[in-house]
Amino acid sequence: MRVLFVASECAPFVKTGGLADVVGALSKALAPLGVEVRVMLPAYPALAEVLATGEEVLNSGAFHGGPARLVAVRAAGLDLLLLDAPHLFDRPGNPYADSDGRDWSDNHLRFGALSLAAAQVARGELDGWRPDLVHAHDWQAGLVPAYLRLGAKPAPPAVLTIHNIAFQGLFPAAASAELGLPEAAFNADGYEYFGHVGFLKAGLVYADRITTVSPTYANELLSPDYGLGLEGVLAARRSDLTGILNGVDLAVWNPATDPAIKAVYSSRAPKGKAANKATLEARFGLMPRADAPLFCVVSRLTRQKGLDLLLEALPRLRARGARLVVLGAGEADLQTGFLEATRRDPGSVGVVIGYDEPLSHLMQAGSDAILIPSRFEPCGLTQLYGLRYGTLPVVARTGGLADTVVDANDAALAAGCATGFQFAPVTAAALGDAIDRVCDVYANAPAWRSMIRRAMRHPVGWDRSVATYVALYRSLVDGAEPPVDG
Ligand code: ADP
Repeated sequence: MRVLFVASECAPFVKTGGLADVVGALSKALAPLGVEVRVMLPAYPALAEVLATGEEVLNSGAFHGGPARLVAVRAAGLDLLLLDAPHLFDRPGNPYADSDGRDWSDNHLRFGALSLAAAQVARGELDGWRPDLVHAHDWQAGLVPAYLRLGAKPAPPAVLTIHNIAFQGLFPAAASAELGLPEAAFNADGYEYFGHVGFLKAGLVYADRITTVSPTYANELLSPDYGLGLEGVLAARRSDLTGILNGVDLAVWNPATDPAIKAVYSSRAPKGKAANKATLEARFGLMPRADAPLFCVVSRLTRQKGLDLLLEALPRLRARGARLVVLGAGEADLQTGFLEATRRDPGSVGVVIGYDEPLSHLMQAGSDAILIPSRFEPCGLTQLYGLRYGTLPVVARTGGLADTVVDANDAALAAGCATGFQFAPVTAAALGDAIDRVCDVYANAPAWRSMIRRAMRHPVGWDRSVATYVALYRSLVDGAEPPVDG
């Protein structure tokens, strides 16, 4: 089966968050099951070298004021189709914003072009490669199902995955004509969202199936608190919505082979973790101490991630003698809050503001526990990396966090199945209580060691979920029975 992935990010080439990890890892994980994936991505500057080694496979004509072509290239184990349209994508900054963090004013055209090019490929305009199905990821690819369904030509089925419904791709009504979308579908049953063109809304309406990245988030999305205005659209499509858990690229996130960490280790030979801790402490200028855990955060610094709650709970963490290292970037007041915390308490709180992939690996390897107090979390990947690296996740009971971490309550500890700590409601007080529980278990060395062992053995790969995706694809392509939540 041939599947065209359409996305704005893909690791290891372009990454601002979990979407990139998932697009890269899932497309690789599908190959052994006989699914031939090609990933369509914009040719950002980060892909310039890769682009130069590729071969033009389609001249797409002119898109929104400049030439566009598709270049096929194999790199890092992935088959890419790069949309080379320099007037849209050859720009500094990240995929969505300029170097000062301001969204590009023509993002509707940039990602509209990506969707349009994907629709060309889906309809068979590429010589020798026609997909049986298109899999669009997030709002940036949300118009793919719209172009396919609203166009006159026959088209393959389309799946849309919601990686985070907080990002919906809303643009003024005038975008509709610029994007060549039919006026007749600019209504509540079509791609209109309260007077705007809604890219994600369009995808939700026109895709044949909708998935999201955990079963709990699939349920949460049906309520206003989590659906963020799209709960009604999703309720109408409830029977087409499936939650399939994300997995981890086990080749990239493996403490037994990771080149980015100080010393490799495994659940059988865990000794190396201590050397990583010492390296991490030195890197952040922390004073070593053995009687309390070292917590870490690797995250976008945003309210979604609940990091304002962590600032509020920090005195309780420090009261237990625990220490904290933070790697992240985001909202200015949160950055300032963490920087002030390290200024007040330099030997015990360390902060790096920025994005640093190798350091994120060392943080996972060298910390005792990872804090993820998200207000909502579609799946979350850092708790899965934490499990694999024996860095126990401390998570809010929401979305994929609830689905992947077994809370160390008394019953779970007694039964020997706990892998981390969950808390609810998502408040600073409940987070503080969870931090207390972590410190209590940490003080019991055999209990802590056995939790680490169990966490590291907990399956976090793609095996199960990839089979669910294949079943979903088959249900659309061959009419097989669709899968239940994975
Ligand atoms: P989201 O996609 O909402 O940001 P996820 O947990 O799904 O959250 O994925 C985040 C990904 O980005 C993980 O791979 C994490 O390690 C990485 N990440 C987040 N912030 C940073 C950072 N400052 N430096 C390096 N990697 C980061």
